Amino acid sequence: MPEFGLIIDGRKGSADEWLDIRNPATGELVGQCPVATRARLDEAVAAASRAFKSWSMVPDQERVEAVQKIAGVIEANAGELAALLTREQGKPLKGMGSEFELGGCIAWTGATAALQLPVKVLDDSSQARVELHRKAIGVVGSITPWNWPLMIAIWHVIPAIRSGNTVVIKPSPYTPLSTLRLVELISEVLPAGVINAVAGKDELGQAMTEHPGIQKIVFTGSCATGRKVMGSAADTLKRLTLELGGNDAGIVLPDVDPPAVSEKIIGGAFLNNGQTCAALKRLYVHESIYDEMCAALAAAASQIPMGNGLDENNLQGPIQNKMQYDKVCSMVDEAVAMGGHALCGGSPTGGPGYFYPLTIIRDVSEGCRLVDEEQFGPALPVIKYSDIDDAIERANRSENGLGGSIWSGDLDKAAELAGRLECGTAWVNIHGDIRPDVPFGGVKQSGFGVEFGQEGLEEYTSVQVVNIAKGGV
Ligand code: NAD
Repeated sequence: MPEFGLIIDGRKGSADEWLDIRNPATGELVGQCPVATRARLDEAVAAASRAFKSWSMVPDQERVEAVQKIAGVIEANAGELAALLTREQGKPLKGMGSEFELGGCIAWTGATAALQLPVKVLDDSSQARVELHRKAIGVVGSITPWNWPLMIAIWHVIPAIRSGNTVVIKPSPYTPLSTLRLVELISEVLPAGVINAVAGKDELGQAMTEHPGIQKIVFTGSCATGRKVMGSAADTLKRLTLELGGNDAGIVLPDVDPPAVSEKIIGGAFLNNGQTCAALKRLYVHESIYDEMCAALAAAASQIPMGNGLDENNLQGPIQNKMQYDKVCSMVDEAVAMGGHALCGGSPTGGPGYFYPLTIIRDVSEGCRLVDEEQFGPALPVIKYSDIDDAIERANRSENGLGGSIWSGDLDKAAELAGRLECGTAWVNIHGDIRPDVPFGGVKQSGFGVEFGQEGLEEYTSVQVVNIAKGGV
């Protein structure tokens, strides 16, 4: 049996076609990923449909215990999964890398196990008793990206399973191996068919969104693909949660001390090398502190060690893939050609691996792609403003609306300004802070639906009202 397999109906299966998965830091082969045909997808959906009949009916406490067991299994195998994740994704083992991601998987799984879906009594009068129930939807198709492969898989599958659904997950073709191994481990503690994993190229994702046996799609990825998912899910009127791209703005008010906030801003911008949906992607700084802020950011960014993630001294790895690397290179080149100045970084370090140094670009403004579009990489444009109303207006001038942040010592004023940002989460003096008990999602073209917390769990259910007339037949 090969090292990695499709997981269908509780069994690890082989394939006729395989994809080579390479380490983006070195180009070395990490492993081979089985490619699922349409027939294997059909088998996975059929297994999930069969399992749904019993899984949706088991007593709730059994599902709580099953999810707790999953948290234990991840914890017991965290070392193996983290090393595999570093080798296929590139992120470092240490810092905010793979071990941190596995810690997040365990924390989110545990927190989701503890959530409940109680029956709400809407009326209990002499005439009627009206109850609102939350029922599982059916087979959930999960489609994930390559930036936080395991954490996002957990965000999708755990609330789905906790609330009585069954799952077919398809990881990104760039980072499928860690998800296949994670699902193999999880499937060992669940009844056959409750969780299934298929892998393959983008067409497989499309086949899932069109599949009549899947009732809901939870998708995390780019806005462009999100539009396609919504289009192809229309024929079967699937429920959708779409967590899409962002171009988060941060606004720094004149009262901050640049060296004091620079590390936190760098942390928010370059989490996972900037390959994070809710990373800070454009920074507006008041003209009175602009020069000092740019210098402090460059000083903080230059100190972060970058290199092969398996070396425990490194806190940043390579960009994950060639497509993304080329995108960052061309966006920075264009910003520099349009008058921007790179205070650190600004050009690739040279092979092997897709390494690009952390880059701070000053003297840029709207009109270049680095500001107007999602760069999803280690290059932060710093933009000067003089009037706060104008800065808010420019921050909001985007089709995206995932996150945003205000930086100031005046918390009341900052909170008021944060409320004016058009985004799903508005932070003050921090950026990208997410928690398992707090809903997270985008507005505008960053998607719809939320994940995490009670509201996130309810996304995996439909409302059923039971209306009982009292007083005899
Ligand atoms: P992507 O859209 O290219 O791919 C995401 C997944 O969709 C992959 O598994 C891919 O195979 C699949 N896919 C591709 N075409 C498809 C189709 N037509 N139908 C169905 N599935 C298809 O995204 P990516 O490059 O892997 O990830 C980066 C993007 O994800 C960024 O834009 C980032 O902001 C976004 N993201 C958003 C969040 C969030 O919570 N909002 C979190 C992480 C990443």
